Amino acid sequence: MSGIWNIPKPLNEPVLSYAPGTPERAALKSGLAAVGSQQVEIPAVVGGREVRTGVTQNVVSPHCHQRVLARVHQADRKTIDAAVKAAAEAQRDWGNWRFEDRAAVFLRAAELLAGTHRQLLNAATMLGQSKTAYQAEIDSACELIDFLRFNVHFAERIYHEQPDSSPGVWNRMDHRPLEGFVYAITPFNFTAIGGNLPAAPALMGNAVVWKPAASASLSNWHFFKLLEEAGLPPGVINFLPGNAVEVSQALLSHRQLAGIHFTGSTPVFQSLWRSVATNLEGYAGYPRVVGETGGKDFILAHPSADVDALAVAMVRGAYEYQGQKCSAASRAYIPDTIWPAVRDRAVGMIEDIRMGDVADFRNFMGAVIDRRSFTKLKDHLDAAKRDKGVTILAGGGADDSVGFFVQPTLLQVEDPAYRLMCEEIFGPVLTTHVYPAARWRETLKLVDETSPYALTGAVFARDRQALAEADRSLRQAAGNYYINDKPTGAVVGQQPFGGARASGTNDKAGSILNLLRWVSPRSIKETLSPPRDYRYPFMLEE
Ligand code: NAD
Repeated sequence: MSGIWNIPKPLNEPVLSYAPGTPERAALKSGLAAVGSQQVEIPAVVGGREVRTGVTQNVVSPHCHQRVLARVHQADRKTIDAAVKAAAEAQRDWGNWRFEDRAAVFLRAAELLAGTHRQLLNAATMLGQSKTAYQAEIDSACELIDFLRFNVHFAERIYHEQPDSSPGVWNRMDHRPLEGFVYAITPFNFTAIGGNLPAAPALMGNAVVWKPAASASLSNWHFFKLLEEAGLPPGVINFLPGNAVEVSQALLSHRQLAGIHFTGSTPVFQSLWRSVATNLEGYAGYPRVVGETGGKDFILAHPSADVDALAVAMVRGAYEYQGQKCSAASRAYIPDTIWPAVRDRAVGMIEDIRMGDVADFRNFMGAVIDRRSFTKLKDHLDAAKRDKGVTILAGGGADDSVGFFVQPTLLQVEDPAYRLMCEEIFGPVLTTHVYPAARWRETLKLVDETSPYALTGAVFARDRQALAEADRSLRQAAGNYYINDKPTGAVVGQQPFGGARASGTNDKAGSILNLLRWVSPRSIKETLSPPRDYRYPFMLEE
């Protein structure tokens, strides 16, 4: 077959409403019933072969922790080593596939996810990670479909990136996959990130070893099976659930480690980077280290802010998915002139929020992911109750009798350097500091310098001059910056996502910038008419 083929232009997957009476609502309800009534046994998969080690860990519903959804076999050392071998074998072939054939696998996966598999992935994400129907839809359906389709389009643009040629010479760029395997380590909070971190390097011709987050194993497993169904050859992505430290230690000490694709917390990323540095001489090359990590995302209001829009952004930005988005608003700076109105509006909405089983569609919030997170959040809330200078305006309670429920909580603190203004705690807690309206400029500096992170941030103002000032002062304070909008909800292809400072390497998942990390270009010069005499013309007799 000959031809230079154009890839279909991607469009963002429309978000379905799940309103009463819609077909998607009925389909999702049956999906929930099906996923909730089974207990899945999840193996490791190495070179296309399922491995059951017999040592298993349970996946439970966070909002109903007695319900076991899956038993996950934990990879042992033998399985880990086999995964590296399988990746090397698979890559020899896969790395030489034509781009169009690789692309077709992922475009087919997007189609399966948009159609027949949509409600399976949504139901698994809802029950396993405690997302509401809407939060699952924008994650495990739309964002993951967008990653798959847009990455193919970005890859095509990379391959089109070719050098100039001079007369008699044809220059080319071979955008090779990396030499070795890529280790994808994925977080619990987005099924889309779980899928994208292994899929993006694989699309560029790499072979991957994927360690999913334990609590997201169910949705991640279903996505892995979907990739197989879409035609991904055995060994291109090896699915390796297991003890994070053991799996990482084994893989990071491997000579063939070519890259790490990580999303998760800052301390874990720093420990991975440290291991790579320690093992540096042992690697065949310099591993690419890509990590998107934590945040302490801000909302800053100017006295000219629209109070209603601001209060809604605070509530949606801080409490959707229980504040467990890396982009979730967790600190707010509000001027005293509008604070009483903002506070009353926000507290009114918070008191109206329903929290509970996500299969009950009236709920706006589910539970936090696990006991560890629950205990950490409860300890912070208990401390806030004791600490001087902290007022609990809404919420503050936590109850783990049925599920790991933490109330949406709004705090007001006098000290802008109070712990909860600086540290990421990853839960439904928004801490506010009220500043004197005349101290706008000083507050800009405070927002910029308070936390080590620089992931997302939002500024609310109607005064254009104030927006311009904020834009300048906060240029390095957030990798995703929002004006008069909440700091969450980035869309693939529209707001490429990632932050700097302690928030990561800012390689912008779901953009051309990320895919560039998974290729190692080879410059090729072909001389069409090579010289046949070693002497240059200047050397000739006059
Ligand atoms: P986590 O760091 O606990 O876990 C992430 C992954 O690392 C999991 O697969 C986990 O098993 C593994 N892991 C844990 N400890 C490890 C260790 N010692 N060595 C090697 N691997 C280890 O993070 P999480 O709780 O799954 O996710 C929440 C965090 O992720 C938050 O900090 C959040 O801000 C961040 N996050 C960032 C982004 C972003 O784009 N910046 C997106 C989503 C989540």
